[in-house]
Amino acid sequence: MQTQRLRIAIQKKGRLSTECKDLLKRCGVKFNLIGERLVVHCENMPIDLLLVRDDDIPGLIMDGVVDLGFIGENELEEVGLERAARNEPSNYTMLRRLDFGGCRLSIAIDKDEAYNGPQDLQGKRIATTYPQLVKRYMSEQGVTFSTCMLNGSVEVAPRAGLADAICDLVSTGATLEANGLKEVEVILQSKAVLIQRSGDFSADKQALIERLLTRMQGVIQAKE
Ligand code: ATP
Ligand code: ZN
Repeated sequence: MQTQRLRIAIQKKGRLSTECKDLLKRCGVKFNLIGERLVVHCENMPIDLLLVRDDDIPGLIMDGVVDLGFIGENELEEVGLERAARNEPSNYTMLRRLDFGGCRLSIAIDKDEAYNGPQDLQGKRIATTYPQLVKRYMSEQGVTFSTCMLNGSVEVAPRAGLADAICDLVSTGATLEANGLKEVEVILQSKAVLIQRSGDFSADKQALIERLLTRMQGVIQAKE
């Protein structure tokens, strides 16, 4: 069900939320976030913001339910692989990479354990929220492993005896250190990106997207 208004999905609450809202505001998009509303109508442009969990954004774009979305590449790639494995559409257009949300997806093990390369992970159980990305990396390395799927508290899994290693998002490494872990492989470098659904757009929507992108370019350049 397509609407006249451009639908943009952003994370409701979390690490990408504030920067996405700031970026849109700097691009001249005016909106007022009140309460727990899922859809917010912008006041000065034909744009609706959809405030959702970041996990839902790739699917909303790939199903063509929203027009644009801000999402971390880690989540985008994971959902893309998962959907492709289920033969569901996983296409989208990358409009631009952004200058926030930087992190890396890394494998970490007990800090006292020896490590000489991916072969040392052979037969190990790896706790992660990103099983598809781990699977892709491990099969590229020719190493077999098992997973322990966790949506939170991944970093405590080894200490809790649930897994031998973890694969999780890292920015400073402080969380790993606090849990007695050391980073041994970086499997993905990630930033926030702006993506667009596949398919046709009305001339008006297309023009609005181009206007937003031009403004975004200006805003990002001014920051550099
Ligand atoms: P939601 O409730 O929307 O599902 P979440 O807990 O999955 O939120 P956040 O922790 O807010 O997600 O992270 C959102 C995104 O921010 C990550 O997927 C990643 O792209 C990016 N990010 C940047 N730095 C970090 C970090 N140090 N740890 C985790 N994510 C980070
Ligand atoms: Zn999430």
